[in-house]
Amino acid sequence: MKADLHVHTYFSTDSNAYMQESVEVAIKRGLDAIAFTEHWDEDYPDEFREDLREANGPEGMKLHPDFDERPLFTFDIEKYFKELERVRGLYGGRIRILSGIELGMRPHRPDILKLYKGMVDKYRFDVVLGSVHLVNDEDPYYPEAWFKLGADRLIKEYYENMLECVKEYDFFTSLAHIDYVVRYVPDELIDTTPEEYFKGVYGRNSKTIDEILKIIIKRGQALEVNTNGAFTRIKHVHPSDAIMNRYKELGGTAITYGSDAHYSEKVGDGIYGI
Ligand SMILES: [Zn+2]
Ligand SMILES: [Zn+2]
Repeated sequence: MKADLHVHTYFSTDSNAYMQESVEVAIKRGLDAIAFTEHWDEDYPDEFREDLREANGPEGMKLHPDFDERPLFTFDIEKYFKELERVRGLYGGRIRILSGIELGMRPHRPDILKLYKGMVDKYRFDVVLGSVHLVNDEDPYYPEAWFKLGADRLIKEYYENMLECVKEYDFFTSLAHIDYVVRYVPDELIDTTPEEYFKGVYGRNSKTIDEILKIIIKRGQALEVNTNGAFTRIKHVHPSDAIMNRYKELGGTAITYGSDAHYSEKVGDGIYGI
């Protein structure tokens, strides 16, 4: 079984892939299933709108027509399901096409928790990814947050945020890219290579990470293997071996695989099947 359960299309603010093209790639690469897990990060700071427009290519190439009308990292769920049904109609006999959403979780925000719970109850997505993308309202994708806190401290706070989120959000299917944040650590802030620094994250945050893992294991929520990391400067899938070994040691068995593709040609990257 080869399933890529973490794929974005242009319904996600930072992707310009067409759903139909991504399904065609998935079929070509022999996948049995694909899930379109579009971003929803409620209350994402709007100051990054122009950066994100540029990231979608020259002159907003293939930018979603709703881009300027919506808060960043949200999408029109009705339109999304319409497109999903259309593409299922074309290719449904050749591959399982699953619905999904990637929820940007935020701690201590009962309003966001309620909103997400309502969306998940209403739309019954096949895959609900729980992600932490922000650290104390700042996006560690950009270097500013790192220089403010320093690397070890930012990562420590990242996991403290994640633990609070995991306690509150009991309805996601799989905890996405548990250590992806390390990818963005600026070289100037570490005295080793990003690869080595990545390996040490569990050791420096073992208490908090153990608590996170124990909660999802107890509830039967899965841990995601996000293959995207293998193609970045940390040169390894998420999670690191140390976190995955600990997950197994604690009794974790549920794992989902996802490429986190934001371009059609990346669908299925690193997904070898189980
Ligand atoms: Zn994510
Ligand atoms: Zn993603």
